[in-house]
Amino acid sequence: DGVCKCHACYGGPDCSCQSVPECIIDLDHGDPTMYEAYWLVNGASSTTVIPGWQRMSYFAAAAAAPATHTSSSSRVEQQQQDVAVWFMEHELDVQIRALHAVVGNAITEGRHIVVGTGSTQLYQAALYALSSPEQSKPTCVISAAPYYSSYPVVTDYLRSALFRWAGDATTFKLQQQSSDPNAAEEEEEQQYIELVTSPNNPDGRIQHAVVNGSGPVIHDLAYYWPHYTPITAPADHDLMLFTLSKCTGHAGTRIGWAIVKDAAVAKKMVKFVELNTIGVSQDSQIRATQILKAMTISQHIQNQNLFHYGHSIMSYRWNRLRAAVGSSSSSSTFSLLDFSPDQCTFFGKKTTPTPAFAWLQCNKEVDCEAFLKSRGIISRSGRHFGVGPEFVRLSMLERSHSFELVVQRLASCSSPA
Ligand code: PMP
Repeated sequence: DGVCKCHACYGGPDCSCQSVPECIIDLDHGDPTMYEAYWLVNGASSTTVIPGWQRMSYFAAAAAAPATHTSSSSRVEQQQQDVAVWFMEHELDVQIRALHAVVGNAITEGRHIVVGTGSTQLYQAALYALSSPEQSKPTCVISAAPYYSSYPVVTDYLRSALFRWAGDATTFKLQQQSSDPNAAEEEEEQQYIELVTSPNNPDGRIQHAVVNGSGPVIHDLAYYWPHYTPITAPADHDLMLFTLSKCTGHAGTRIGWAIVKDAAVAKKMVKFVELNTIGVSQDSQIRATQILKAMTISQHIQNQNLFHYGHSIMSYRWNRLRAAVGSSSSSSTFSLLDFSPDQCTFFGKKTTPTPAFAWLQCNKEVDCEAFLKSRGIISRSGRHFGVGPEFVRLSMLERSHSFELVVQRLASCSSPA
């Protein structure tokens, strides 16, 4: 049983003895295993059973339960005309909209929802949909540094002629402003797509587009949920990405969704999903539907709701981390960003951001990743996020025994020798 297996650093019948003091703790990935403990106790209504004969077709519409108003075949025809729902389980669409309505973090009325194999697939689908094959040069893909480290690699791994990674959005903006306007007239204007991750991965800040030009913006709102940040208003952008991975912790289910205003863009994104993977696992969609339903049902039950649970654990962890790291002065070993509280419409009170990652700055070491590695902590260097090696990102979503050990180790680095 994965939940009960001891971490490599622990032993004993209940995994409570620290058996290997020099063991390595890996906080490189944002693997949301912290939530296992919640679902272990509250998971009864989240269980999915799928008989062997069900959902065998490629198409979600054909897999639906016996039709009520229309015959199954006419419903399939109708849904095939509307390509945006071709691969999407209708009930998943319903549950996604219901959860956003309950949380108040995104407008879904009159919007198209596109399902993907994680939001990683939808990010690529969005680039495909928003870049034009008529361009003589690939569209520049930009995001303000520090940006999510997967963006550059995922954008460029196939060396597409449609788009290419062009780095920091602020640098791009300055380059555009300083370029010769006469030369620009002759040359075709450089097209761009800007990515805005808010709250940001890695540093947890609320972000806005920096270029403010005519290029499309993809808003990655993976962390715009009440356990990570105050929900201040329902987001209403042209193209927003969400993922089950960070909302409920079910990263292994690989379900993400895009909320899209423009039908033509949604349709092109579905085309990408069709070309890339001929749809999205229906088994996963069914599981995601059940999990989202459990989330919506438990919304008012304070001690059973994942957002309350998540927020209280994250607040505890951030307090522990800040206490271990000490004051963020230049003379201290580490610095962390400070966050201001804001009114959260979901909790109905002021809450302080508790990001999914700690963005730690080493004040005395040039290479923070190497320094932490020497103390048995695997982190991700700032270099992957478009900034310097004095920064590292640490996941705050690990199982509690890993988190507690990291806090102990950071405290021992911080305390005067
Ligand atoms: N966007 C951001 C900002 C993320 O942090 C992550 C996961 N680390 C993703 C997207 C990818 O999510 P998924 O698991 O749905 O592919």
